[in-house]
Amino acid sequence: MQEFERRQPLDMTPEEFRKVGHRLVDRIAHFLGDIRSLPVTKGEPPSVVRQAIGDRPLPSTGEPADVLVEHAAELIIEHSLFNGHPRFWGYITSSAAPIGALADLLAASVNSNAGAWSLSPAATEIELQTIRWICELIGYPVDSGGVMVSGGNMANFVCFLAARKAKAPFDVQKTGFSGTERMICYVSAETHTWVEKAADEFGIGTNQVRWVPVDDKLRMRVDLLRQAIADDRAAGDFPFLVVGTAGTVGTGAIDPLDDIADVCESEDVWFHVDGAYGGFAATLPDFRIDLQAISRADSIAVDPHKWLYSPIEAGCAVVRNLEHMRSAFSYHPPYYRFDQVGEEPAVVMADRSPQNSRGFRALKVWLGLQQAGREGIVRSIAEDIELARHLYTILQDRDDFEVFTTGLSITTFRYVPAGIPGDVDRDAYLNEINETLVTELQEGGEAYVSHTRIRGHYVLRACVVNFRTEVADIEALPDIISRIGLSVHERLTPA
Ligand SMILES: *Cc1c(COP(=O)(O)O)cnc(C)c1O
Repeated sequence: MQEFERRQPLDMTPEEFRKVGHRLVDRIAHFLGDIRSLPVTKGEPPSVVRQAIGDRPLPSTGEPADVLVEHAAELIIEHSLFNGHPRFWGYITSSAAPIGALADLLAASVNSNAGAWSLSPAATEIELQTIRWICELIGYPVDSGGVMVSGGNMANFVCFLAARKAKAPFDVQKTGFSGTERMICYVSAETHTWVEKAADEFGIGTNQVRWVPVDDKLRMRVDLLRQAIADDRAAGDFPFLVVGTAGTVGTGAIDPLDDIADVCESEDVWFHVDGAYGGFAATLPDFRIDLQAISRADSIAVDPHKWLYSPIEAGCAVVRNLEHMRSAFSYHPPYYRFDQVGEEPAVVMADRSPQNSRGFRALKVWLGLQQAGREGIVRSIAEDIELARHLYTILQDRDDFEVFTTGLSITTFRYVPAGIPGDVDRDAYLNEINETLVTELQEGGEAYVSHTRIRGHYVLRACVVNFRTEVADIEALPDIISRIGLSVHERLTPA
């Protein structure tokens, strides 16, 4: 072969990397310092954003990194919604700890493949320590088997698959489902939609999800759970899994986990806790009683990219007995020789989830946990909850709002104008006003809340998982909403 000099279109010299990197870090620092003065979002439609990105074919020749990175930073900061804005309270999406951004830079630079210990010595050991710390924080056995995944859905899927394998009355991995066996899982009517995806994708079938009704606090009715299991057994079906939610996505309700654990124990059914939102509140003294039964679960899903404020993506699945996790995910082909390094056994994280090659997600969580410490995490979560309750209190005192619930750091409410016409269905009218106003609020960029439905009522829903939110931000919200709400009301009901 002829000697040739390789041209390296994707490499950077250390000088170039330093120059481009420093400029980017300066830009990001400026953005973070500035975030409060920016709108939460510009509410631009897709066509505007597409146009800003530029509709052009893939360039055939390369361009210099400094120009590209600077352009990307401007583009992204200019056309993004900022969930780290102090007035963002939509869905359950947290502000992201800046140390997590630095962690991702470091992780990507070393680019460890955390699928196997030998490819990621430091990364795998740090991931294992992160999972132990997470267990410690929420009061789950530290010798459980865990894995970092992309988020709450994936964490719940991993646990669901471990449960499916552990409890199936036949060899589900080898034979698959024939369509005659029915394995049943039980969830409260308020459970996140991940369970439908899981039932569908993993062969259980969505018909086999039992949506157990909730009580007046939106918690699973355990008497009806017991009844449903008995009915299914009588019909010859096979109950295998109950999901208890530690903080529902709609209102932050916490299912009666201890009672559910009792049922699962006596029925020999897998007990999974979806703690994607509220799991970390278990570390607060105020929630110890409601959440301590997490420790009785066979598996638990938590979401560091919610209440540990890690940048997206960071979820974590933990199964009490590591063997249940390994038996659901571990396949060892001939080219596989990873579980020993020298004389010592080595952990293979690819044996714990559907992923093979894996990024170093744990680093941002590990650094954030150390930066805040247990006390810092407890304080941040407690303050988020206090702010949500404060919102409930100030809305309660106003006559242009009705409050519904406050649970964990979610408060639900609706705007109620004076002078609703006497000849309309009041509830339908309020649903319409609130639905219209939330869209205008979200697009306006002053503040951001989302919505849910409670017993048919369309309600606004503020979820504070945001270390940048101050009391003044919360206190500004009612006037912003009532101003928009009033203008909607005036349009719907001209004087
Ligand atoms: C957010 C959430 C999920 C989904 O988590 P993602 O990180 O968005 O995948 C599942 N369950 C509950 C209770 C949640 O709050």
